[in-house]
Amino acid sequence: MVKIVFATGNQHKLREIRQILSDLPCELISMKDAGIDVEIDENGTTFEENALIKARTVAEHTDEIVMADDSGLEIDWLGGEPGIKSARFLGEDTPHEIKNRALIEKLEGVPDEKRTARFVCAVAAILPDKTELVVRETFEGRIAHEPEGLNGFGYDPIFYVPECGCTSAVLSPEKKNELSHRGKAFREMAQKLKKLLK
Ligand code: IMP
Repeated sequence: MVKIVFATGNQHKLREIRQILSDLPCELISMKDAGIDVEIDENGTTFEENALIKARTVAEHTDEIVMADDSGLEIDWLGGEPGIKSARFLGEDTPHEIKNRALIEKLEGVPDEKRTARFVCAVAAILPDKTELVVRETFEGRIAHEPEGLNGFGYDPIFYVPECGCTSAVLSPEKKNELSHRGKAFREMAQKLKKLLK
């Protein structure tokens, strides 16, 4: 079976992506399981660049297919912030309750129609012949006035999804995968890989 090395140390992400890619005839393994231990310097200026940087760094150490993603939250009122710095916003280890509360405060008094935001996910894949593929998808919503919901992670409790009438932290994992930036981007990448792996 074809192996895909996923450039992350995050087991939660790996599980979620295994579920999204479950009908692809491949085995998704972590960098660690592939015996690769490298520092990745995410110094790109876009989600696409950062996904490619991660994938290229790992591809230097294997001839298997490599995949990587980069994601974050863009808030229009804040000029697209925190954007590619979403994980580092207010410090990587700061609890998300604090980060979420800070973003709600930054948007205090801003009316609903100006609270537009999106989650973005770029996925990069590098094939054994070093061909590079990149896709980018978004999940459109608004910044809520109050955190809501216990599912998901990160900024989900403040990401209001108008078509569902709740935040993405209220959605079931299946519903979130159906609508989310990550679900859409990985399904699109899976379609591309399916054609190439035939
Ligand atoms: P990375 O893609 O692992 O670099 O993480 C990007 C950051 O964006 C993380 O800090 C997450 O909190 C945030 N993020 C990305 N996708 C989601 C999502 O689906 N829900 C909530 N937060 C997200």
